[in-house]
Amino acid sequence: MKKNILRRIINPLIDWLFPPRCLICGKVALFNSYLCHDCFFDLEIFGKAPHSFEAENSVIDEVSSLYKFNNVMKILIHNLKYNKCDYIGTFLGNQMGIYYKNTSFKDYDCIIPIPLHRVKKDMRTYNQAEQIANGISQVFEMPVNIGLLKRSVFTETQTKLNQNERQENIKGAFKIKNKKDIPSSAILIDDVFTTGATTSEAANTLKEAGVKKVGVLTAATPLFSRHLKFVFEMDDSEDVDL
Ligand SMILES: [Zn+2]
Repeated sequence: MKKNILRRIINPLIDWLFPPRCLICGKVALFNSYLCHDCFFDLEIFGKAPHSFEAENSVIDEVSSLYKFNNVMKILIHNLKYNKCDYIGTFLGNQMGIYYKNTSFKDYDCIIPIPLHRVKKDMRTYNQAEQIANGISQVFEMPVNIGLLKRSVFTETQTKLNQNERQENIKGAFKIKNKKDIPSSAILIDDVFTTGATTSEAANTLKEAGVKKVGVLTAATPLFSRHLKFVFEMDDSEDVDL
């Protein structure tokens, strides 16, 4: 009890003495503990199916990305993936939850984050897609299911591959862990939608297991090839894309 009171006094004092700085521009962050007001409004809403998504013959029933992959989003995603800023995932998930709560995405049974390979999750200490999924779940009040889908195959780096090669590279990378408890519908969550190869393979695995409807929500999607190149380079900053 005393500890809590002490914390309530000390934390604001620390914030006053050393105010949190915006991750993007370095100014004092007033909007929340890592983003200033201006940079928050530099995030550009997209809210549609990514340009690289081809609905024809897709196993994905519907897909939407909340933000454009602009310079502000690039820094947020980079910090989420490589600098242990897991709270950015929760923040993005909350924003997605607010944006999509009155849409058809609210009608699914559960939320499934694209799983990371065990080795990669250990390296990163968390799965960024799971952080985003938790943020959406807080708003949707929909369960997050991390017990169903597993990434079992250690795949080679995807960086220099085109869409077809990526699809081939990721084939068979996912497995179903628990065949007894198959939901009838699920939303797959990822941070960025690039070519859609990963989400399509995960959706395919779920459908083969008996999930009837699979939607996909991602925090961002690149609009131009130079953005796409940067997303690929982010993958390249690690030895392997697991
Ligand atoms: Zn800022």
